[in-house]
Amino acid sequence: MSLSETLFQEAQKYIPGGVNSPVRACKSVDATPLFIKKAEGSRITSVEGASYIDYVLSWGPMILGHAHPDVTEVAVAAAKKGASYGAPCEAEIDLARAVCHALPTVEMVRMVNSGTEATMSALRLARGYTGRNKVLKFIGGYHGHGDPFLASAGSGVATLAIPGTPGVPADVVAHTLLAQYNDLEQVKAHFERHGDDIACIIVEPVAGNMGLVLPKPGFLEGLREITRQYGALLIFDEVITGFRVDFGGAQKRFGIQPDLTCLGKIIGGGFPVGAYGGRRDIMQRVAPCGDVYQAGTLSGNPVAMAAGTCTLELLSRADYAGLEQRTQALVAELKSIFAEKSVPVVINQIASIFTIFFTQTPEIVDFPTASTADSARYTRFYAHMREKGVYLAPSGYECAFLSFAHSDRDINITLEAVRSAQL
Ligand SMILES: *Cc1c(COP(=O)(O)O)cnc(C)c1O
Repeated sequence: MSLSETLFQEAQKYIPGGVNSPVRACKSVDATPLFIKKAEGSRITSVEGASYIDYVLSWGPMILGHAHPDVTEVAVAAAKKGASYGAPCEAEIDLARAVCHALPTVEMVRMVNSGTEATMSALRLARGYTGRNKVLKFIGGYHGHGDPFLASAGSGVATLAIPGTPGVPADVVAHTLLAQYNDLEQVKAHFERHGDDIACIIVEPVAGNMGLVLPKPGFLEGLREITRQYGALLIFDEVITGFRVDFGGAQKRFGIQPDLTCLGKIIGGGFPVGAYGGRRDIMQRVAPCGDVYQAGTLSGNPVAMAAGTCTLELLSRADYAGLEQRTQALVAELKSIFAEKSVPVVINQIASIFTIFFTQTPEIVDFPTASTADSARYTRFYAHMREKGVYLAPSGYECAFLSFAHSDRDINITLEAVRSAQL
């Protein structure tokens, strides 16, 4: 038994499933997780001492590569000055200012500790601000594990959603409306029926949790228009896309102005941070400025703020266009390798994100089309790539990410590994 396997058994004695977040258990690819010893640049190293080219990047945050020397240095320096104060510190202003400067629609921002907290808080604020109850989300969209977001449709347009997990009261998700991603007609139908009680639409402006799915031209514009028309708020969940698809997020790239934005992942530089922000008149409803309560003992943590600020500062000067070109080149090579192998594939890509769907379906535009991907083939692909030293997400419904630390050599090794795959 490998050391990772031994540790996994030990972990399962004390931690449900041996992991602190479910996908890490690698169940859907029939594997056991690697336990990680350290990570640097584009590479992570398992407890066995094996090094892998990492396309997971902690599920997105490590866009500068692991253990970036500058980020590490400021985090260590901050920790030496005390891990937490529970009182205001200047580092909170630095990160808030950096976020507001980067994202033009964010006039004020509140720091929290995770993406989940950001979306839960933004929803409460939207409800408080509009005095309405319902939230519209998209099937296959993920907004953290808050109760109202854990709803899935039985089929088609479900007006009354059913909870996607035990433990969520049906009454809670009764206020969650579901539509297919990229389907404005379904959105319109909901607004025609419930328009006066819909507080907000929450959407990943580029969907990243059913694999990567891009918004069709006009989709985000349509959401902006219909929310304006009915007096509902538009919330962009940019937990993945913020500082990833562009320094200014998807809202900058697509030129859409949401009312509220949720952030996470990259803004903490690898430390636990989330944030929600947006229009000043809405954000001023947040306590203690306003009446919508939301709080956090460790929120605005000085170590996380310092790491986040340093990360954004480095990213503000980073070559996003160059990283995108490298990703496009990698994806083009992947497509030609799969074509040579006669393996049917759709690869969705934007900026430094891509997902390989093993499918005959010509276009992956929503959850039903994403679900046509062959998971058995992905399982074989995952195992082969891991064997060859390439670390991919242990599920076909996830994204692969490149960082600024991935080298041409990393990419060539990756392509060589794909060439030798028997799928
Ligand atoms: C990861 C993610 C979240 C949840 O963030 P956590 O930090 O895991 O709570 C929310 N929304 C999107 C789009 C995400 O990808």
